[in-house]
Amino acid sequence: MLIMEKLRELMTLLDVSEDDAIKSILNLVSPPPPPATRQNWCRLSTFGNSAPSSKELWAKLVEADFKCQKCSSQMRLSFNHIDGNAKNHALTNLEVICFACNRAASKKGTTDENHHYKLVMAAIKLWKENNKFPDFELIRLTAGVKQVGGATYLLKYIQNRLTKNNPES
Ligand SMILES: [Zn+2]
Repeated sequence: MLIMEKLRELMTLLDVSEDDAIKSILNLVSPPPPPATRQNWCRLSTFGNSAPSSKELWAKLVEADFKCQKCSSQMRLSFNHIDGNAKNHALTNLEVICFACNRAASKKGTTDENHHYKLVMAAIKLWKENNKFPDFELIRLTAGVKQVGGATYLLKYIQNRLTKNNPES
């Protein structure tokens, strides 16, 4: 399926307005404002109470073409210290990365950023195939994820949306 068709279908199924879709895209791609990053680092001892200039941070974003330097995503970008030393602000030690890659890099667990995406897409696929909303375990298996966990209410919401106009499903 073409990507725009997929997007349109999802918006229709979830009853998401075009305005909401546009606003959420703008939220996700908004780059981290260099002055805020700078202020934050200067305030925290973790970052050695220092930071590159806003101009330097902005140049870093431009250089990265406002994309994650690991996976090319534009979602929720931030600056990462490549050597793991949060006080080493040498410009060659900084890279622009997305939220998911940042999470992975900071060892905050193995949260798969695509977890929710995989589950929702699996739920919609199964629903279309069977004309009936699948149980969560089947969704989990189809999505190939370890657990539904934090996506439980997201799936309940999807179920509500998909079955609302199809009471028999
Ligand atoms: Zn990334």
